[in-house]
Amino acid sequence: MHELSLVYEILRTVDAAARENQLSRVTRVGVVVGKMSSVLPDSLTFSFDAVKNEVPTWTPGVFTEARLEVETRDVEAHCRLCGHLFVLGPDLACPKCGAATLDLAGGTELYIDSFDGE
Ligand SMILES: [Zn+2]
Repeated sequence: MHELSLVYEILRTVDAAARENQLSRVTRVGVVVGKMSSVLPDSLTFSFDAVKNEVPTWTPGVFTEARLEVETRDVEAHCRLCGHLFVLGPDLACPKCGAATLDLAGGTELYIDSFDGE
């Protein structure tokens, strides 16, 4: 399960950052997920809640009250014909000139944007 290994990675990273910043608990973890990254946000939050108290952490119980916030990013496309940059819709063509020769820009990202703790 793709999302589960991602969640482990997220928890490891935030746990290490919390330790560095001497936080005893993390309340919120914000991640950015591009719509083309093949990650399902619901599955990500489900996995997060399922394992947040199971993973070994530097600080015991650091994730007990943590919730995962997933922000999805649209896929942007750049038209090769007219140079128009736009958010890719379901029709997969340039809204300006109708061409379907597009370069995708963005939408494949996946990273930890921020987290809160104390
Ligand atoms: Zn175009």
